[in-house]
Amino acid sequence: MTKPVILTGLRANNNLTLGNYFGALLPIVELAHSRASEYQVNLFVPDLHSFTTPIDHSQLQAQIMHNARLFAAAGLPLDSSDILLYRQSYVPAHSELTWILDCFSGVGEMGRMIEYKDKSAKLGDDRVSVGLFNYPVLMAADILLYGAEYIPVGEDQRQHLEFARDIAERMNAKFGELFTVPRPLKDQVEFFGKGQALRIMDLADPTRKMSKSDDTGKGVIFLTDDPAEAAKKIMSATTDDKASVNYDPKEQPGISNLLQILALLTGETLGDVTERYIGQERYGDFKKVVAEEVQKFLSGFQERLNAVSDDVIYAAFERSERAASEQAGQTLYKVQQAVGLRPEV
Ligand code: ATP
Ligand code: MG
Repeated sequence: MTKPVILTGLRANNNLTLGNYFGALLPIVELAHSRASEYQVNLFVPDLHSFTTPIDHSQLQAQIMHNARLFAAAGLPLDSSDILLYRQSYVPAHSELTWILDCFSGVGEMGRMIEYKDKSAKLGDDRVSVGLFNYPVLMAADILLYGAEYIPVGEDQRQHLEFARDIAERMNAKFGELFTVPRPLKDQVEFFGKGQALRIMDLADPTRKMSKSDDTGKGVIFLTDDPAEAAKKIMSATTDDKASVNYDPKEQPGISNLLQILALLTGETLGDVTERYIGQERYGDFKKVVAEEVQKFLSGFQERLNAVSDDVIYAAFERSERAASEQAGQTLYKVQQAVGLRPEV
């Protein structure tokens, strides 16, 4: 582990959305392109995290492959030794370190996790698993095994990053320098930049974020949507009655969202796109432009997705899982020695 590590996992239990693509997938892929010479970039499929809440297990294997193919279709280079693409469960050190860290983690601190409180409240007591309760510990292990410093974290993961830092410092204080402590949130935000703040809004209700777990899917564009159907969703997007295109997320959230989507799709700046359409009175004409771009993008993306060869994915897995196992194994061994499970040499 000579280069600093950037690490991220993307759970894809549901189909991913246009928001996930521009807010998470693409920034990671771009980072892998631009930074792989200075950093090691770890992208993993967090398969062990995928059933902290009930899922259909007959679908899991297919979802794991789909998840990896999405990275490839988004342009992730699969043949660079600085980019690791691995399945979490193929590196058993994740589970082993989790158990050890579990024994140094407090029930109180886990119970205070907002994500846990929210999700468990929704599920009801008898359906809340121990896995849901302690998954922040698994997440800490995911990070600490590789000495990862930079982890892009969304709003809902901030507390978990703090925990990863806490447990690393706690273990270091007790046993000597075992772990690299991940950078504080402020450094993360600085490092990953404005991409983290991007929020594509729901088309039907543009005051809400577009979310993959939205059951109706009416205002959500999924990456696997039929392109023509997706275009229709744009055409029926909620707007306003001002009859004048303008970027004003407060007063005109629907139109502003469409301008944002258009800018992302064409690769132009929001300012340039806004300038081109500002004042346009006929929303239908403007929507048509956006709809066509969405349709074009999805057709192209799906073509790339279908062309991804599973052999190439498996080769990347194999290479990466070997490298990851070696790095993670070294960290785990140090911890095992520190807690007395292995002899000191
Ligand atoms: P869920 O409904 O299951 O919470 P989600 O669509 O909100 O799904 P997450 O799994 O919470 O997705 O987040 C995955 C990544 O996608 C995160 O990095 C998050 O910041 C990003 N992301 C999610 N929704 C959007 C959005 N609408 N616009 C931009 N980025 C988004
Ligand atoms: Mg979310």
